[in-house]
Amino acid sequence: MPELFIDGAWTSPREARTREIRCPADGSLVAVVDEADGKDTLEAIGAARRAFDAGPWPHTTGAERGDLLLRVAELLARDKEALARAESLDTGKRLVESAYDIDDIVNCFRYFGRLADVDEGRVVETGVPDAESQVVHEPVGVCALITPWNYPLLQTAWKVAPALAAGNTFVLKPSELTPHTAIHLARLLAEAGLPDGVANLVLGAGPEVGGPLAEHPDVDLLSFTGGLHTGRRLMAAAAGTVKKVALELGGKNPNIVFADADFDTAVDMALTAVFLHSGQVCSAGARLLVEDSLHDRFVDEVVRRAGEIRLGGPFDERAQTGPLISADHLAKVEAYVALGVREGAVLRCGGARPSGTEYENGFYYLPTVLDGCAPGMAVVQEESFGPVLTVERFADEEQAVRLANDTVYGLAGGVFTSDEAKARRVAAALRLGTVWINDFHPYVPQAEWGGYKQSGTGRELGPAGLAEYRETKHIWRNTRPAPQGWFA
Ligand code: NAD
Repeated sequence: MPELFIDGAWTSPREARTREIRCPADGSLVAVVDEADGKDTLEAIGAARRAFDAGPWPHTTGAERGDLLLRVAELLARDKEALARAESLDTGKRLVESAYDIDDIVNCFRYFGRLADVDEGRVVETGVPDAESQVVHEPVGVCALITPWNYPLLQTAWKVAPALAAGNTFVLKPSELTPHTAIHLARLLAEAGLPDGVANLVLGAGPEVGGPLAEHPDVDLLSFTGGLHTGRRLMAAAAGTVKKVALELGGKNPNIVFADADFDTAVDMALTAVFLHSGQVCSAGARLLVEDSLHDRFVDEVVRRAGEIRLGGPFDERAQTGPLISADHLAKVEAYVALGVREGAVLRCGGARPSGTEYENGFYYLPTVLDGCAPGMAVVQEESFGPVLTVERFADEEQAVRLANDTVYGLAGGVFTSDEAKARRVAAALRLGTVWINDFHPYVPQAEWGGYKQSGTGRELGPAGLAEYRETKHIWRNTRPAPQGWFA
């Protein structure tokens, strides 16, 4: 069956091309999928444009759009098992984690389904007699949605649900490495009754298939989640048509542990912070900053426990985390650790692929701790996006904050302390879009997600996540028209 979804029809690429999708856990062939090129993308943009300019969708009420999103949520819940399985085969992540992701995705659609009907328009008190002033919201238009491979359907849901809630049409380009749940979602949107041309799906390589989305004048908004370098390139490409740009980029997230923290909780969460999904999480707590007096005991325990983490494929129930996404990514992480050691970091554990025949065909890398790191090192500044923890030490609160803020990124971070006032001071001083106190990683669709500094621009989730997809219009009506005589 063809796998591009354009103008309400499943379509094959104009030039017959395919891509093999292999499971990162064992290299097994998952499927061969259609691969589009830039001309297919142009068709998809055309369909989305027509559906916006002439179709019924932008003129539906918020309540109607909300109902559709709630229907999609129910369909996603119905297909949870198949979706989780597909996500795990594409990404290599444990099935149980994919199942959590699908629950979050259902919640995301429910949240924006309910929000779609909230009219934030208002009447403005001008103080001017004989005038009415009103602020209304409208959809932005055609949205280009480009998503990464680490949380494929989750990142897609964070864009698709608010884009539809606001009445936009869109072209979605998922990562070429993990297309299956996006294909499934397109089917569910059609099943839920979305009009033709509102949702369009193209599959394929970033520059070729995604490139036109950033440049095309018929695209009004680009929402991109992915790496910093791609984000910079796309922002520059989008500048040519001054389209709205929302970027969710990488992070090099600090996890600050004070000596007065609850030891067992802080150790446990330091591991989850960085090794969840083998570090392939934009908000991974990859920089551990630990107070001098606690350093030795804390890092010894983190190293001991990191050495016990069991790796395995999606369906291995004993596994605690899985492989990296690809051979290229594995090579990148290996090079990064080697660079850290050359820079003077002390390799405390990991730093290698695991041994054992079960790992031979997968892209596994052992949980790795690099101690003795310093602020200027590339391994402290750059995202590895792998299971690699760098450790720095600090003397006091002021130094902890300074180190934590000392990268170009500003996505998320944690602070562990039993002193509530200190926690609040530090949270206020951190230049991050999300701060967790005595916790790491939780998020809810009701609260905004996004980055300070070069972690991005704009917000996803929460009311601001919907506002990204809405234009604001001021309508002024003179209720008693008469000449003004300004130039009389
Ligand atoms: P990536 O930048 O390589 O690719 C992301 C998407 O962009 C893919 O669909 C890719 O095909 C496409 N793309 C690549 N080059 C393109 C181009 N020239 N034109 C148009 N599209 C192009 O990122 P990735 O490796 O897929 O994802 C990992 C990155 O995503 C990490 O840096 C991670 O931190 C970031 N991320 C951020 C968040 C967040 O919420 N801030 C969430 C998840 C992932």
